[in-house]
Amino acid sequence: MNLPIKLISTDFDGTLFAEFENPPIPTRFAELIARLQQRGAKWVINTGREMSSLMESLARARLAVQPDFLVLVEREIYQHDGVRYVPVEPWNTACRQDHEALFLRVRPQVSGLTDWVNERFDATVYEDAWSPFCLIARNLPDAEAIHARLEGFCRQFPGLAVVRNDVYARFSHVNYNKGTALAELMRRLALSSAEVLAAGDHLNDVPMLQRRFSRHLVAPANAIPAVKELVASQDGYVSRQACGHGVVEGMERVLQL
Ligand SMILES: [Mg+2]
Repeated sequence: MNLPIKLISTDFDGTLFAEFENPPIPTRFAELIARLQQRGAKWVINTGREMSSLMESLARARLAVQPDFLVLVEREIYQHDGVRYVPVEPWNTACRQDHEALFLRVRPQVSGLTDWVNERFDATVYEDAWSPFCLIARNLPDAEAIHARLEGFCRQFPGLAVVRNDVYARFSHVNYNKGTALAELMRRLALSSAEVLAAGDHLNDVPMLQRRFSRHLVAPANAIPAVKELVASQDGYVSRQACGHGVVEGMERVLQL
């Protein structure tokens, strides 16, 4: 296989998927991925979503291609075995155990943090299967103010990190994010950063939009300014087109199509 890129890591929401477009994922993207997969390249959707919500949106998008891998909740890796997506081990078990041990230490302090948020903001705060503290802020300025407080909270607990995407935030273990999950996939596939393309639009994509993981970086026009700057500063491509259209354009440049 003589392809310049052998692994394509795309965020989902805002990078590929535009909910109110029809189709929500451009046909051109699916066609290009199909051609690359036929020549041996692998595609991973690297997202903050869980399995069920991602599968539902993929099914509704009526996509003609299937990702070879998924990174879900920015941390767990799944591989398509021809029939279904199966957990990649020992990564997922280590990931779950490390989060359980970390959150056991954090949990006693979470109610104080929740009170701090509720006293100052009209925000939704809850615990779910992935984090003892999850946030949906009312708007971006609130999200930014709460984010700063969460960063301060994390300094009390070595290993604790905030993962934020727009008005959403949760906690995770510093060793598990879109970047380290991508690195694990590269290790398993024996690929170097020169053979990887990564595309993202928001803060939770920052860990994978790094040249040490991916030599080819792409941001669509709708990416937040911090992500566009990060991509441009590493010789990546910032498209003038939004979402999946921008990603296709970035891929075509690397492939010289
Ligand atoms: Mg996104």
